[in-house]
Amino acid sequence: MTQIQRLLDANAGYASARANVHDARPSRHLAVITCMDARIDVFAVLGLHLGEAHVLRNAGGRLTEDVLRSLALSSHVLGVDTVVFMQHTKCGLAGVTDEELAALTGADLGFLPIHDQAADLREDIDVLIATPYLSRITTVGGFVYDVESGELDGVVRWQRP
Ligand SMILES: [Zn+2]
Repeated sequence: MTQIQRLLDANAGYASARANVHDARPSRHLAVITCMDARIDVFAVLGLHLGEAHVLRNAGGRLTEDVLRSLALSSHVLGVDTVVFMQHTKCGLAGVTDEELAALTGADLGFLPIHDQAADLREDIDVLIATPYLSRITTVGGFVYDVESGELDGVVRWQRP
């Protein structure tokens, strides 16, 4: 339980010192989809602050059904019009297969492993663009974050015509 207690202790200091954001709508009309990898400090990497963006994270930073669900709400209810996908180097989902991950986890889920980062980013962006209920999203970017150098590679930029 030490781990849990550390979190509660840390919160005691946080609550009294935090900045309060009243508006639930991201002020930069932005959603970032990225990997759950513990080496990525999303707000620091992209120069974002509290209240400015939705951050949707999962293994690989892929466009899953649940990310689509969140983006439907982001764009229709909370004013998001820009989406950035940020995959990264040394990702645990790169260079593995669904079969290997199913054997490793005992779960047959369709893990969306990454074979070719640029192609997979492009594929996720194409699906987003073609999803009718996401038509309010007008700008999409695709980046690869280098976990060693801290730098971003801009792979894809798209603007709705
Ligand atoms: Zn990753």
